[in-house]
Amino acid sequence: MTRPVFRFAPSPNGRLHLGHAFSALLNHRMARDVSGRFLLRMEDIDTTRCSAELERGVLCDLVWLGLDWEEPVRRQSEHFDDYRAALERLIDAELVYPAFMSRGEVRGRIADHEADGEPWPRDPDGAPLYPGDDRHLATTEREARIAEGHPFAWRLDMSAALRHLGTTLTWEETECGSGGETGCIAARAEAWGDVVLARRDVPASYHLSVVVDDALQGVTHVVRGRDLFQATAVHRVLQELLGLPVPQYHHHELVLDRDGRKLSKSRGDTSLHALRQSGATPADIARMVGFGG
Ligand code: GLU
Repeated sequence: MTRPVFRFAPSPNGRLHLGHAFSALLNHRMARDVSGRFLLRMEDIDTTRCSAELERGVLCDLVWLGLDWEEPVRRQSEHFDDYRAALERLIDAELVYPAFMSRGEVRGRIADHEADGEPWPRDPDGAPLYPGDDRHLATTEREARIAEGHPFAWRLDMSAALRHLGTTLTWEETECGSGGETGCIAARAEAWGDVVLARRDVPASYHLSVVVDDALQGVTHVVRGRDLFQATAVHRVLQELLGLPVPQYHHHELVLDRDGRKLSKSRGDTSLHALRQSGATPADIARMVGFGG
């Protein structure tokens, strides 16, 4: 029997807060309870927002909390070749396309549409779906625009991908989504439209790098915040297209602030660093996130 593999995968673009502490402690405990392995992964593909200094802060907070993990830590910024290789496979399969519309053009297109009184479709996070006007551009036109230096992002052609797969994908959820969905979940990836898989400034998206890394690291149990429950549908599509194994998923509840809002890295009040400075101990943090010390 191979040992279960868990991972905590923070983005070092700010200090960790209580929500991260909960996720990290939960992963660590779940791994320990089944004699599994616990890995740490730095999701630092956005090299403009992540830095070595912020990473040091994250590591320092995790050590302080009393966590330990297997070395080496996987740092996504050191593995762009892996994501590029996965993207190339999807390009070869003609399931992705270069999307040239700027944010302003997308906004204009949606405003025109909504001016007629019909709402533009939105993804589960509330962002408008990409119009996909350039989904069917001729290859020569695409090549010409790229050669002229037009900025573009690689987007998954979601309809084509779903047609290609031809079957409803599912995943096993051992916790639940915000509507209480649990057990065998049908992946509704169409709700996300043509998601970005790579940009010029960030050569891999979260969706692409997370599925590639979970597979490369042999992750069997993904334990992460409920805010990523719906995104799992996209991950299932990418796993299937790339022939990757499917982990079990456990989307835990989020730690909210006093006003019931999701914690954010930009509001410093619940950062582990600030709490530590004001005298909190690791045991206090564990209690604050419901682990009873
Ligand atoms: N890097 C993501 C975050 O910090 C977590 C991604 C995941 O666990 O799949 O929210």
